[in-house]
Amino acid sequence: MTIVQKYGGTSVGTLDRLRNVARRVAARAAEGEQIAVVVSAMGKTTDDLLSLARAVNPRPPRRETDLLMATGEMVSSALLTMALVEMGCPSVALTGAQAGVFTDDTFGRARIRGIDTWRMEEEFAQGHVVVVAGFQGQSPQGDYATLGRGGSDTSAVALGAALRAKQVEIYTDVQGIYTSDPRIEPNARCLKDIASEEMLEAAQQGAGVMHPRAVELGLLYEIPILVASSQAEFGSGNGTLIRGKVEMEPENRVRTIALDRDVASVTLRHIPDRPGIASQLFGPLADAGVSVDTIVQNASELQLTDLTFTVTKDDWERTQEISRPLAGELGAADVLFDHDLVKVSLIGTGMQSGPGYAATMFRSLSDAGINIELITTSEIRITCLVRADRGEEAVRVLHSAFALDQEI
Ligand code: ADP
Ligand code: ASP
Ligand code: MG
Repeated sequence: MTIVQKYGGTSVGTLDRLRNVARRVAARAAEGEQIAVVVSAMGKTTDDLLSLARAVNPRPPRRETDLLMATGEMVSSALLTMALVEMGCPSVALTGAQAGVFTDDTFGRARIRGIDTWRMEEEFAQGHVVVVAGFQGQSPQGDYATLGRGGSDTSAVALGAALRAKQVEIYTDVQGIYTSDPRIEPNARCLKDIASEEMLEAAQQGAGVMHPRAVELGLLYEIPILVASSQAEFGSGNGTLIRGKVEMEPENRVRTIALDRDVASVTLRHIPDRPGIASQLFGPLADAGVSVDTIVQNASELQLTDLTFTVTKDDWERTQEISRPLAGELGAADVLFDHDLVKVSLIGTGMQSGPGYAATMFRSLSDAGINIELITTSEIRITCLVRADRGEEAVRVLHSAFALDQEI
Protein backbone atom coordinates (compact mmCIF):
# COMPACT_ATOMS: atom_id res chain seq x y z
CA MET A 1 0.00 0.00 0.00
CA THR A 2 1.29 3.45 -0.88
CA ILE A 3 1.48 6.33 1.56
CA VAL A 4 1.12 9.91 0.36
CA GLN A 5 2.51 12.62 2.62
CA LYS A 6 2.42 16.35 2.01
CA TYR A 7 4.60 18.93 3.72
CA GLY A 8 3.59 22.59 3.62
CA GLY A 9 5.69 25.71 3.13
CA THR A 10 6.58 26.34 6.76
CA SER A 11 7.54 22.69 7.26
CA VAL A 12 10.17 22.97 4.51
CA GLY A 13 10.85 26.68 5.13
CA THR A 14 14.49 26.33 6.23
CA LEU A 15 17.20 23.77 5.50
CA ASP A 16 16.94 22.50 9.09
CA ARG A 17 13.22 21.90 8.69
CA LEU A 18 13.74 20.34 5.31
CA ARG A 19 16.24 17.90 6.89
CA ASN A 20 13.69 17.16 9.61
CA VAL A 21 11.18 16.26 6.90
CA ALA A 22 13.79 14.10 5.17
CA ARG A 23 14.42 12.23 8.46
CA ARG A 24 10.71 11.56 8.91
CA VAL A 25 10.31 10.33 5.34
CA ALA A 26 13.44 8.18 5.52
CA ALA A 27 12.23 6.60 8.78
CA ARG A 28 8.90 5.61 7.22
CA ALA A 29 10.65 4.34 4.08
CA ALA A 30 12.93 2.20 6.28
CA GLU A 31 9.80 0.50 7.64
CA GLY A 32 9.24 -0.72 4.10
CA GLU A 33 6.49 1.73 3.12
CA GLN A 34 6.14 2.88 -0.48
CA ILE A 35 6.03 6.67 -0.17
CA ALA A 36 5.07 9.58 -2.41
CA VAL A 37 5.89 12.93 -0.82
CA VAL A 38 4.31 16.14 -2.08
CA VAL A 39 6.02 19.39 -1.14
CA SER A 40 5.07 23.05 -1.18
CA ALA A 41 7.48 25.85 -1.96
CA MET A 42 9.80 26.85 0.89
CA GLY A 43 8.33 29.42 3.31
CA LYS A 44 7.01 32.49 1.57
CA THR A 45 8.57 31.66 -1.80
CA THR A 46 5.29 31.78 -3.74
CA ASP A 47 4.48 35.24 -2.35
CA ASP A 48 8.00 36.42 -3.22
CA LEU A 49 7.70 35.10 -6.78
CA LEU A 50 4.37 36.87 -7.19
CA SER A 51 5.91 40.13 -5.95
CA LEU A 52 8.67 39.78 -8.52
CA ALA A 53 6.10 39.25 -11.25
CA ARG A 54 4.08 42.29 -10.20
CA ALA A 55 7.21 44.41 -9.95
CA VAL A 56 7.87 43.97 -13.65
CA ASN A 57 4.23 44.00 -14.70
CA PRO A 58 1.31 44.97 -12.43
CA ARG A 59 -0.90 42.56 -14.39
CA PRO A 60 1.47 39.75 -15.30
CA PRO A 61 0.33 37.30 -17.99
CA ARG A 62 -1.25 34.26 -16.35
CA ARG A 63 0.68 31.63 -18.27
CA GLU A 64 4.05 33.09 -17.32
CA THR A 65 2.89 33.71 -13.75
CA ASP A 66 2.23 29.98 -13.45
CA LEU A 67 5.59 29.14 -15.01
CA LEU A 68 7.27 31.38 -12.44
CA MET A 69 5.27 30.13 -9.45
CA ALA A 70 5.82 26.49 -10.37
CA THR A 71 9.57 26.92 -9.82
CA GLY A 72 9.04 27.27 -6.04
CA GLU A 73 7.88 23.68 -5.63
CA MET A 74 10.61 22.41 -7.94
CA VAL A 75 13.25 23.92 -5.68
CA SER A 76 11.87 22.27 -2.54
CA SER A 77 11.33 18.88 -4.21
CA ALA A 78 14.89 18.84 -5.57
CA LEU A 79 16.39 19.88 -2.21
CA LEU A 80 14.33 17.38 -0.22
CA THR A 81 15.42 14.61 -2.58
CA MET A 82 19.05 15.64 -2.17
CA ALA A 83 18.66 15.52 1.62
CA LEU A 84 17.05 12.06 1.41
CA VAL A 85 19.82 10.72 -0.82
CA GLU A 86 22.40 12.16 1.58
CA MET A 87 20.70 10.15 4.35
CA GLY A 88 20.99 7.01 2.28
CA CYS A 89 17.32 6.94 1.26
CA PRO A 90 17.02 6.37 -2.49
CA SER A 91 14.61 8.88 -3.94
CA VAL A 92 13.77 10.90 -7.02
CA ALA A 93 12.27 14.36 -7.52
CA LEU A 94 9.54 14.81 -10.12
CA THR A 95 7.80 17.93 -11.37
CA GLY A 96 4.02 17.75 -11.50
CA ALA A 97 4.22 16.95 -15.22
CA GLN A 98 6.84 14.22 -14.71
CA ALA A 99 4.62 12.69 -12.03
CA GLY A 100 1.85 12.56 -14.65
CA VAL A 101 -0.42 15.29 -13.26
CA PHE A 102 -2.52 16.63 -16.14
CA THR A 103 -4.65 19.74 -15.75
CA ASP A 104 -6.84 22.02 -17.83
CA ASP A 105 -5.42 25.36 -18.96
CA THR A 106 -7.11 27.79 -16.56
CA PHE A 107 -3.83 29.23 -15.36
CA GLY A 108 -3.77 30.20 -11.71
CA ARG A 109 -6.66 27.93 -10.79
CA ALA A 110 -6.24 24.89 -12.98
CA ARG A 111 -8.15 21.72 -12.23
CA ILE A 112 -6.62 18.27 -12.34
CA ARG A 113 -8.04 16.23 -15.22
CA GLY A 114 -6.20 13.03 -14.57
CA ILE A 115 -3.02 11.46 -13.27
CA ASP A 116 -0.94 8.96 -15.19
CA THR A 117 1.00 7.07 -12.54
CA TRP A 118 3.36 5.02 -14.75
CA ARG A 119 6.50 7.01 -13.92
CA MET A 120 5.81 6.97 -10.20
CA GLU A 121 5.12 3.22 -10.34
CA GLU A 122 8.39 2.70 -12.17
CA GLU A 123 10.29 4.62 -9.50
CA PHE A 124 8.53 2.70 -6.72
CA ALA A 125 9.51 -0.55 -8.43
CA GLN A 126 13.13 0.58 -8.13
CA GLY A 127 12.66 1.20 -4.43
CA HIS A 128 12.65 4.98 -4.70
CA VAL A 129 10.77 7.46 -2.57
CA VAL A 130 9.03 9.76 -5.05
CA VAL A 131 9.13 13.48 -4.20
CA VAL A 132 6.59 15.43 -6.25
CA ALA A 133 6.42 19.20 -6.71
CA GLY A 134 2.93 20.12 -5.47
CA PHE A 135 0.58 22.84 -6.72
CA GLN A 136 1.36 22.19 -10.39
CA GLY A 137 0.49 20.10 -13.38
CA GLN A 138 0.75 20.09 -17.14
CA SER A 139 -1.87 21.76 -19.32
CA PRO A 140 -3.08 20.14 -22.58
CA GLN A 141 -0.61 22.38 -24.46
CA GLY A 142 2.26 21.18 -22.28
CA ASP A 143 2.45 24.36 -20.21
CA TYR A 144 2.91 24.61 -16.46
CA ALA A 145 -0.39 25.29 -14.75
CA THR A 146 -0.90 25.89 -11.02
CA LEU A 147 -3.89 24.81 -8.96
CA GLY A 148 -4.59 27.97 -6.96
CA ARG A 149 -3.05 29.15 -3.70
CA GLY A 150 -2.72 26.35 -1.19
CA GLY A 151 -3.11 23.83 -4.02
CA SER A 152 -0.41 21.39 -2.88
CA ASP A 153 -3.03 19.83 -0.60
CA THR A 154 -5.02 19.03 -3.73
CA SER A 155 -1.96 17.57 -5.46
CA ALA A 156 -1.50 15.25 -2.48
CA VAL A 157 -5.08 14.01 -2.30
CA ALA A 158 -5.24 13.59 -6.10
CA LEU A 159 -2.05 11.49 -5.98
CA GLY A 160 -3.55 9.56 -3.08
CA ALA A 161 -6.60 8.75 -5.21
CA ALA A 162 -4.52 7.81 -8.26
CA LEU A 163 -2.14 5.61 -6.24
CA ARG A 164 -5.01 4.13 -4.21
CA ALA A 165 -3.47 5.20 -0.95
CA LYS A 166 -5.19 4.15 2.25
CA GLN A 167 -4.87 7.63 3.68
CA VAL A 168 -3.27 10.96 2.80
CA GLU A 169 -1.18 12.66 5.47
CA ILE A 170 -1.01 16.46 5.37
CA TYR A 171 1.77 17.81 7.59
CA THR A 172 1.66 21.45 8.54
CA ASP A 173 2.60 24.02 11.20
CA VAL A 174 -0.33 23.35 13.57
CA GLN A 175 -1.43 20.14 15.33
CA GLY A 176 -4.49 19.60 13.13
CA ILE A 177 -7.88 21.17 12.49
CA TYR A 178 -8.98 23.46 15.31
CA THR A 179 -12.28 24.92 16.43
CA SER A 180 -11.04 28.12 14.74
CA ASP A 181 -7.75 29.45 13.42
CA PRO A 182 -5.49 29.16 16.51
CA ARG A 183 -3.68 32.31 15.40
CA ILE A 184 -6.91 34.24 15.90
CA GLU A 185 -8.31 32.41 18.94
CA PRO A 186 -5.58 31.11 21.28
CA ASN A 187 -8.19 28.98 23.13
CA ALA A 188 -9.09 27.09 19.96
CA ARG A 189 -9.11 23.34 20.49
CA CYS A 190 -7.64 20.74 18.14
CA LEU A 191 -10.36 18.31 16.95
CA LYS A 192 -9.79 14.55 16.85
CA ASP A 193 -11.86 14.27 13.72
CA ILE A 194 -14.14 16.28 11.47
CA ALA A 195 -16.63 15.19 8.80
CA SER A 196 -15.55 15.82 5.21
CA GLU A 197 -18.59 17.95 4.50
CA GLU A 198 -17.87 20.13 7.54
CA MET A 199 -14.24 20.52 6.48
CA LEU A 200 -15.33 21.30 2.93
CA GLU A 201 -17.56 24.15 4.12
CA ALA A 202 -14.83 25.41 6.44
CA ALA A 203 -12.22 25.35 3.66
CA GLN A 204 -14.57 27.09 1.24
CA GLN A 205 -15.26 29.71 3.90
CA GLY A 206 -11.64 30.63 4.44
CA ALA A 207 -10.15 28.07 6.86
CA GLY A 208 -6.82 28.18 5.01
CA VAL A 209 -5.50 25.02 6.65
CA MET A 210 -6.86 22.89 3.78
CA HIS A 211 -7.42 23.62 0.10
CA PRO A 212 -11.16 23.12 -0.59
CA ARG A 213 -10.63 20.94 -3.65
CA ALA A 214 -8.40 18.61 -1.65
CA VAL A 215 -11.29 18.00 0.75
CA GLU A 216 -13.66 17.56 -2.20
CA LEU A 217 -11.40 14.90 -3.72
CA GLY A 218 -11.07 13.13 -0.37
CA LEU A 219 -14.86 13.01 -0.16
CA LEU A 220 -15.27 11.87 -3.76
CA TYR A 221 -12.67 9.09 -3.59
CA GLU A 222 -13.41 8.24 0.05
CA ILE A 223 -9.86 8.80 1.18
CA PRO A 224 -9.40 9.76 4.83
CA ILE A 225 -7.08 12.75 5.26
CA LEU A 226 -4.95 13.11 8.37
CA VAL A 227 -3.89 16.69 9.13
CA ALA A 228 -1.05 16.78 11.66
CA SER A 229 2.04 18.67 12.75
CA SER A 230 5.28 18.09 10.88
CA GLN A 231 7.06 18.53 14.23
CA ALA A 232 5.16 15.92 16.26
CA GLU A 233 6.29 12.32 16.43
CA PHE A 234 4.61 10.12 13.82
CA GLY A 235 1.98 7.81 15.28
CA SER A 236 1.79 9.81 18.50
CA GLY A 237 -1.93 10.08 17.94
CA ASN A 238 -1.75 13.77 17.16
CA GLY A 239 -3.67 15.29 14.33
CA THR A 240 -7.20 15.45 12.98
CA LEU A 241 -8.79 12.88 10.73
CA ILE A 242 -11.04 14.28 7.99
CA ARG A 243 -13.35 11.51 6.89
CA GLY A 244 -16.76 10.79 5.48
CA LYS A 245 -18.59 10.27 8.70
CA VAL A 246 -17.83 11.21 12.23
CA GLU A 247 -19.51 9.65 15.19
CA MET A 248 -22.12 12.08 16.38
CA GLU A 249 -21.25 13.66 19.64
CA PRO A 250 -24.15 13.45 22.14
CA GLU A 251 -24.78 17.15 21.85
CA ASN A 252 -23.45 17.90 18.44
CA ARG A 253 -23.16 21.56 17.71
CA VAL A 254 -20.83 24.05 16.05
CA ARG A 255 -17.61 22.28 15.07
CA THR A 256 -15.51 25.15 13.79
CA ILE A 257 -15.57 28.86 12.97
CA ALA A 258 -13.98 30.14 9.79
CA LEU A 259 -12.89 33.63 8.76
CA ASP A 260 -12.63 34.55 5.09
CA ARG A 261 -10.81 37.77 4.26
CA ASP A 262 -10.94 37.17 0.53
CA VAL A 263 -14.26 38.83 -0.15
CA ALA A 264 -15.57 41.93 -1.88
CA SER A 265 -19.15 42.93 -2.55
CA VAL A 266 -21.11 44.75 -5.25
CA THR A 267 -24.55 46.24 -4.64
CA LEU A 268 -26.81 47.47 -7.42
CA ARG A 269 -29.39 49.77 -5.92
CA HIS A 270 -32.89 50.27 -7.17
CA ILE A 271 -32.83 48.11 -10.26
CA PRO A 272 -36.11 47.29 -11.98
CA ASP A 273 -37.60 44.07 -10.57
CA ARG A 274 -38.32 42.21 -13.78
CA PRO A 275 -37.40 38.81 -15.23
CA GLY A 276 -34.02 38.54 -16.92
CA ILE A 277 -32.13 41.10 -14.83
CA ALA A 278 -30.09 38.48 -13.00
CA SER A 279 -29.09 36.68 -16.17
CA GLN A 280 -28.14 39.97 -17.89
CA LEU A 281 -25.82 40.69 -14.98
CA PHE A 282 -24.39 37.29 -14.09
CA GLY A 283 -24.08 36.03 -17.68
CA PRO A 284 -21.28 38.48 -18.61
CA LEU A 285 -19.56 37.90 -15.27
CA ALA A 286 -19.57 34.14 -15.83
CA ASP A 287 -18.28 34.64 -19.38
CA ALA A 288 -15.36 36.62 -17.95
CA GLY A 289 -14.54 33.72 -15.61
CA VAL A 290 -15.68 35.55 -12.48
CA SER A 291 -17.20 33.17 -9.99
CA VAL A 292 -19.88 34.84 -7.95
CA ASP A 293 -20.33 33.61 -4.39
CA THR A 294 -23.19 34.92 -2.30
CA ILE A 295 -26.15 36.58 -4.04
CA VAL A 296 -28.82 38.39 -2.06
CA GLN A 297 -31.78 40.20 -3.53
CA ASN A 298 -34.00 42.06 -1.12
CA ALA A 299 -37.77 42.35 -1.22
CA SER A 300 -38.84 44.71 -3.92
CA GLU A 301 -40.57 47.96 -3.33
CA LEU A 302 -42.34 49.83 -6.14
CA GLN A 303 -40.94 47.29 -8.63
CA LEU A 304 -37.42 48.24 -7.59
CA THR A 305 -34.98 45.97 -5.85
CA ASP A 306 -31.44 45.97 -4.43
CA LEU A 307 -29.11 43.19 -5.43
CA THR A 308 -25.86 42.38 -3.64
CA PHE A 309 -23.31 39.74 -4.58
CA THR A 310 -19.79 38.86 -3.49
CA VAL A 311 -16.68 37.82 -5.38
CA THR A 312 -13.08 37.11 -4.38
CA LYS A 313 -10.57 39.95 -4.32
CA ASP A 314 -8.77 38.37 -7.24
CA ASP A 315 -11.84 38.97 -9.42
CA TRP A 316 -12.51 42.39 -7.94
CA GLU A 317 -11.11 44.57 -10.70
CA ARG A 318 -12.74 42.58 -13.50
CA THR A 319 -16.03 42.60 -11.63
CA GLN A 320 -15.97 46.39 -11.39
CA GLU A 321 -15.07 46.78 -15.06
CA ILE A 322 -18.01 44.59 -16.04
CA SER A 323 -20.67 45.62 -13.55
CA ARG A 324 -20.23 49.38 -13.68
CA PRO A 325 -21.45 49.84 -17.28
CA LEU A 326 -24.00 47.01 -16.86
CA ALA A 327 -25.53 48.72 -13.83
CA GLY A 328 -26.24 51.71 -16.06
CA GLU A 329 -27.74 49.56 -18.82
CA LEU A 330 -29.96 47.74 -16.33
CA GLY A 331 -31.26 51.02 -14.97
CA ALA A 332 -29.76 50.82 -11.49
CA ALA A 333 -29.83 54.06 -9.51
CA ASP A 334 -26.44 53.37 -8.04
CA VAL A 335 -23.69 50.76 -7.84
CA LEU A 336 -21.64 50.36 -4.67
CA PHE A 337 -18.36 48.47 -4.32
CA ASP A 338 -17.03 47.36 -0.95
CA HIS A 339 -13.89 45.35 -0.26
CA ASP A 340 -13.59 46.17 3.41
CA LEU A 341 -15.56 43.12 4.52
CA VAL A 342 -14.90 39.64 5.86
CA LYS A 343 -17.06 36.55 6.24
CA VAL A 344 -17.44 34.81 9.57
CA SER A 345 -18.98 31.33 9.43
CA LEU A 346 -20.24 28.84 11.99
CA ILE A 347 -19.98 25.29 10.67
CA GLY A 348 -21.30 22.00 12.05
CA THR A 349 -23.52 19.15 10.87
CA GLY A 350 -25.20 19.18 14.29
CA MET A 351 -26.64 22.62 13.52
CA GLN A 352 -29.14 21.02 11.10
CA SER A 353 -31.12 19.45 13.88
CA GLY A 354 -30.86 22.07 16.59
CA PRO A 355 -32.61 25.42 16.52
CA GLY A 356 -31.23 28.57 18.05
CA TYR A 357 -27.75 28.66 16.52
CA ALA A 358 -28.53 31.64 14.30
CA ALA A 359 -30.24 33.51 17.14
CA THR A 360 -27.23 33.00 19.43
CA MET A 361 -24.87 34.04 16.67
CA PHE A 362 -26.73 37.28 15.90
CA ARG A 363 -27.24 38.14 19.57
CA SER A 364 -23.57 37.57 20.45
CA LEU A 365 -22.39 39.76 17.59
CA SER A 366 -24.89 42.45 18.44
CA ASP A 367 -23.92 42.40 22.14
CA ALA A 368 -20.33 43.00 21.01
CA GLY A 369 -21.50 45.93 18.85
CA ILE A 370 -20.53 44.13 15.64
CA ASN A 371 -22.86 45.01 12.79
CA ILE A 372 -23.96 42.27 10.39
CA GLU A 373 -23.97 43.47 6.80
CA LEU A 374 -25.33 40.32 5.18
CA ILE A 375 -26.35 36.79 6.19
CA THR A 376 -26.24 33.57 4.20
CA THR A 377 -26.73 29.96 5.23
CA SER A 378 -26.39 26.40 4.05
CA GLU A 379 -27.71 23.32 5.86
CA ILE A 380 -24.63 23.11 8.03
CA ARG A 381 -23.39 26.71 8.02
CA ILE A 382 -24.38 30.25 8.99
CA THR A 383 -22.29 33.07 7.54
CA CYS A 384 -22.29 36.77 8.43
CA LEU A 385 -20.46 39.49 6.53
CA VAL A 386 -19.00 42.05 8.92
CA ARG A 387 -16.58 44.96 8.64
CA ALA A 388 -13.02 43.74 8.10
CA ASP A 389 -11.66 45.40 11.23
CA ARG A 390 -14.14 43.48 13.42
CA GLY A 391 -13.64 40.05 11.84
CA GLU A 392 -11.15 38.53 14.26
CA GLU A 393 -13.05 39.86 17.23
CA ALA A 394 -16.23 38.29 15.81
CA VAL A 395 -14.48 34.91 15.66
CA ARG A 396 -13.43 35.19 19.32
CA VAL A 397 -16.86 36.37 20.44
CA LEU A 398 -18.53 33.40 18.74
CA HIS A 399 -15.91 30.92 19.92
CA SER A 400 -16.72 31.85 23.47
CA ALA A 401 -20.50 32.14 22.91
CA PHE A 402 -20.57 28.53 21.71
CA ALA A 403 -18.03 27.40 24.34
CA LEU A 404 -15.85 25.79 21.70
CA ASP A 405 -12.85 25.80 24.01
CA GLN A 406 -14.56 23.11 26.08
CA GLU A 407 -14.73 19.40 25.25
CA ILE A 408 -18.27 18.13 25.02
P1 ADP B 1 0.91 24.83 4.93
O1 ADP B 1 1.99 25.74 4.50
O2 ADP B 1 1.42 23.69 5.75
O3 ADP B 1 0.03 24.38 3.81
P2 ADP B 1 -1.09 26.75 5.74
O4 ADP B 1 -0.55 28.06 6.19
O5 ADP B 1 -1.64 26.66 4.38
O6 ADP B 1 0.05 25.65 5.98
O7 ADP B 1 -2.21 26.23 6.78
C1 ADP B 1 -1.94 26.18 8.15
C2 ADP B 1 -2.50 27.41 8.83
O8 ADP B 1 -3.91 27.43 8.70
C3 ADP B 1 -2.28 27.45 10.32
O9 ADP B 1 -1.04 28.01 10.64
C4 ADP B 1 -3.46 28.29 10.82
O10 ADP B 1 -3.09 29.62 11.11
C5 ADP B 1 -4.43 28.31 9.66
N1 ADP B 1 -5.79 27.88 10.03
C6 ADP B 1 -6.94 28.50 9.66
N2 ADP B 1 -8.01 27.89 10.15
C7 ADP B 1 -7.56 26.82 10.85
C8 ADP B 1 -8.21 25.78 11.59
N3 ADP B 1 -9.54 25.71 11.72
N4 ADP B 1 -7.43 24.85 12.18
C9 ADP B 1 -6.09 24.89 12.06
N5 ADP B 1 -5.42 25.85 11.37
C10 ADP B 1 -6.14 26.82 10.78
N1 ASP C 1 3.16 27.24 -2.70
C1 ASP C 1 1.77 27.39 -3.03
C2 ASP C 1 1.15 28.52 -2.21
O1 ASP C 1 1.84 29.14 -1.43
C3 ASP C 1 0.97 26.13 -2.89
C4 ASP C 1 0.88 25.56 -1.51
O2 ASP C 1 1.64 25.95 -0.62
O3 ASP C 1 0.04 24.68 -1.28
O4 ASP C 1 0.00 28.83 -2.39
MG1 MG D 1 -1.62 25.22 2.82
